[in-house]
Amino acid sequence: MYDCIVIGAGIAGAACARKLAEEAGKKVLVIERRSHIGGNCYDVLDEYGILIHEYGPHIFHTGLEEVYEYLSRFTEWYPFGHEVVAKVGDKLIPVPFNLNTLHMVYDKEKADLLEKKLIEAYGEGSRVPIMKLRENDDPDIREIAQYVYENVFLKYTMKQWGQKPEEISPEVTGRVPVLISYDNRYFQDKYQGVPKDGFTPMFEHMLDHENIEVVLDTDCRDVLKFTGNEILFEGKPFEGDVIYTGALDELFDCKFGRLPYRSLDFHFEHYDEESYQGHSVVNYTVSEDYTRITEFKFLTGQKNTDGTTIVKEYPFAYTGAAGEIPYYAILNEENQALYGKYRALTAGLPKFHLLGRLAEYKYYNIDAMTKKAMELADAIMNQ
Ligand code: FAD
Repeated sequence: MYDCIVIGAGIAGAACARKLAEEAGKKVLVIERRSHIGGNCYDVLDEYGILIHEYGPHIFHTGLEEVYEYLSRFTEWYPFGHEVVAKVGDKLIPVPFNLNTLHMVYDKEKADLLEKKLIEAYGEGSRVPIMKLRENDDPDIREIAQYVYENVFLKYTMKQWGQKPEEISPEVTGRVPVLISYDNRYFQDKYQGVPKDGFTPMFEHMLDHENIEVVLDTDCRDVLKFTGNEILFEGKPFEGDVIYTGALDELFDCKFGRLPYRSLDFHFEHYDEESYQGHSVVNYTVSEDYTRITEFKFLTGQKNTDGTTIVKEYPFAYTGAAGEIPYYAILNEENQALYGKYRALTAGLPKFHLLGRLAEYKYYNIDAMTKKAMELADAIMNQ
């Protein structure tokens, strides 16, 4: 009855399912255990009529033309250059730390000198990871590096990861570099914004195809069995392709132990005020237990709302307890080795594909995830 089964209706599953259904005419079953589609990009109106992102703020940003064009088939965009500020003392300073931030932190004479040195050392427009900046021989540059390390990275990283910046993967700290430019935008990609009517309608359009059937509130493990070299669907061998976007350890009852993740507790608050903080995102890099506050109306462009809704994010170590969601894979050699053990268990499964941030135990942005899903669908079509 089905040619392919896709597990998970996040961006990985939705993009892959749509391509297989539309371009290869495959009958695709999408199994999703939540009661909604969209995965972590899901957005919904709260009880006050304000569009919120239930699993944390999501902004689409990309320089990948093919991804932008593909997703633009399913949505129009509300474009904006996303800006983040950090609360340091009584100041709100632009993040990533850039030349504007430099001039807010130091007096003019010193800032001019430091700017000249930074441009000479790294070139105008460059993006320098904080750990690299700290290695610079020039004491003036090291002074800036120390300021940024202490005021932008140290406490924030401790909250987010439970570890110091030097203890986590450089890939992670490298995601928020120091910018040698006056660009206050958080991302420098050509395209950035959110779907004009929200992420969830974009997913509805993606999955709205005659060859796609979506089943919600269903854990794939209730209908699929993964044995050594066979996949059973409702008790019978399934010959088609299975694309799995869930957590890999869960598929095997975490028999080697859980893959470590950081999780987040989201505290939503509503205020009868026009604005709570006047910014879409304020990072708390030196104070508070939460990492950041997002004020949704500044992110989604929603007008004519009564009041405003914000969310505070409290990170913690994922334990696998009911209701917890694994958000960020903790990348290190030990965890990669554990992931490898689980991956090895899938080697004999025919036409079984691991796709997505959970199944691949990896961080992906929406655009990179879409690209990977499109590539997998192409590979399946050409096999
Ligand atoms: P998910 O969105 O997690 O989807 C996986 C789906 O599979 C889920 O719906 C899950 O319920 C389902 N599933 C899992 N197991 C099973 C099972 N056993 N049976 C059935 N269904 C199952 N990226 C950006 O580009 N911009 C941003 O601003 C941004 N902000 C982010 C903020 C936060 C707090 C986080 C954590 C991530 C952010 N990302 C952002 C990354 C973005 O969320 C991911 O790129 C994207 O969600 C990956 O999609 P996915 O389909 O792999 O995973």
